[in-house]
Amino acid sequence: MTFREMNLHPDLMEGMDAMGFEKPTPIQEQAIPICLSGNDMIGIAQTGTGKTAAFVLPTIHKILSTPSEGKIKTLIIVPTRELAVQIDQAIEGFAYFTGISSMAIYGGGDGKEFNQEKTALTSGIDIVIATPGRMISHLNLGYVDFSQLQTLILDEADRMLDMGFQRDLQRILDHVNPNRQTLFFSATMPSKIMTFAKGILKSPEVVKIALSKPAEGVLQGAYILHQRQKPEMLVELFKGKDVKSAIVFSSTKKNVSTIHRILKKAGISTGAISSDLEQKEREEVLLQFKNRRIAVLVATDVVSRGIDIDNIELVVNYDVPGDAEDYVHRIGRTARASATGVGITFVSQDEQYKFLKIEELIGSEIRKLAVPEVIGETPEYKPKSGGGQRRFSKPRSGGSSQGNRPNKNRKGPNSGGRPRPKNKD
Ligand code: ADP
Ligand code: MG
Repeated sequence: MTFREMNLHPDLMEGMDAMGFEKPTPIQEQAIPICLSGNDMIGIAQTGTGKTAAFVLPTIHKILSTPSEGKIKTLIIVPTRELAVQIDQAIEGFAYFTGISSMAIYGGGDGKEFNQEKTALTSGIDIVIATPGRMISHLNLGYVDFSQLQTLILDEADRMLDMGFQRDLQRILDHVNPNRQTLFFSATMPSKIMTFAKGILKSPEVVKIALSKPAEGVLQGAYILHQRQKPEMLVELFKGKDVKSAIVFSSTKKNVSTIHRILKKAGISTGAISSDLEQKEREEVLLQFKNRRIAVLVATDVVSRGIDIDNIELVVNYDVPGDAEDYVHRIGRTARASATGVGITFVSQDEQYKFLKIEELIGSEIRKLAVPEVIGETPEYKPKSGGGQRRFSKPRSGGSSQGNRPNKNRKGPNSGGRPRPKNKD
C-alpha cells in the first residue's frame, strides 16, 4: 500500500512530500488505516520503525476532515520533553500546508513558559503534545477543555510505565472526552503494559511488527574503551584461549588488513576477506576457515549476511556497525541452530551513541565487560552525554533549543518555519 492509496488529505500529502515521505513503513501501512477507521489500537514496533508518522498522519487527516470549533482535538502524551519537541517538529512539517496548530508542553522552564502554554491551551490549539506531569499541572488549574478531544495517543507507553507515570496517566484519562479514540504505541509490550492498555482501550486492534533480534543463544557483551586500545584488547581477547572459530568484523577494508596483521603478529591463526579480494580468493579463505585451518576470520560486512558457516564460537565487532541492523546480522553469524555463541563489541568513545541505538533496536542492554587492567584507563559508558559525541536526530533551525520554544498557539501556514525536508536544507 502507498500513502496515496490511503486517501490522505491533499494539504497533508503536500507536507509529506516536502518531508520526503514517499513509502509507508510496515507499522505505518498497518496502523494508519486502523487509526482512520476510528478504532482503538495498540501498535508495537521497535525503535526507528516510524511510529510517529503512524499516528500523526491519520490524526492530522482527521482534524482536517472535521470542522474546527477552537477546541483541542488531539492529545499526545509522551515520557520526555525531548520526545515532545521532536513530535511537535514532525507535526509542524507534516501540517505545514494545513493551518493546523500544535504545541509541545513539558516540565522545566520558567513561569513565562507556563503562561504561554496556558494561553495556548485556553485558546484551543489543535494538537497538544505533553509530558504527564506538566499536563496534570495545567489540568489542576481547571482551564483545559478536553471535551471535544477526538484522539488520545500514548507514545512510548512502555517507557512511561517504566518511569512510574501510570498514576498520572490515569488522572489525565479522567479528564478526557470518553468518546475519544485511543491509540497506544510502544516498542515492547510486557504483560503489565498489556493489562494497562486493555484497561483503557475499547476492543483495540493490535498491530505488532516482528522484532529483529539476535538468536537467543548468543551471549552479548561490550568493551567500552578508547579507539587506540582496540588492537591490544583484540590480542588480549584471543591470547591463551583455544578459539577454533571466530570472526572479527570491521566496517572498513583498511581496518581489515590492519587487524589481520595485528593478529598474525600475535601468533594467531588468521585469514582476511574483504571486497578487495577476487571472488576466488575470498572463496579460498572461506574454505580454509570452514575446514578449521584458519581460526580467526577477519572480514568486512560482506560476509555478515548470507554466508553459512556453522559453529562459530565468537563474533567480535572491532567497530560498532553503522547500521544497527548490521549488528544483528553480524551477531547472527554465531549461535546458529540453537547452539550457543558469544558476540563481543568494541565501543570507542565516538561510537557510544551508535551503540546505544543498537541497544534500543534490540530492546535490551548489552552487558559491559570489565576491560583487563593491562589495557589501562578506559572511558565510562555515557552515550547520551560525555561519552560519545553529542548528536541530535534533527537539526533545529533558528535559535537555541530553549529560545526556539515556539509562540505559536495560532499558527497559520505562513507563520511557522519551513517544513524540514530530509537530507536537504
Ligand atoms: P519510532 O518512533 O518508531 O522510533 P520514528 O517515528 O522516530 O520511529 O521514525 C524514525 C525515522 O524514520 C525518523 O527520522 C522519520 O522521519 C523517518 N521515517 C519514518 N517513516 C518514514 C517514511 N515513511 N519515509 C521516510 N522517512 C520515514
Ligand atoms: Mg517514537
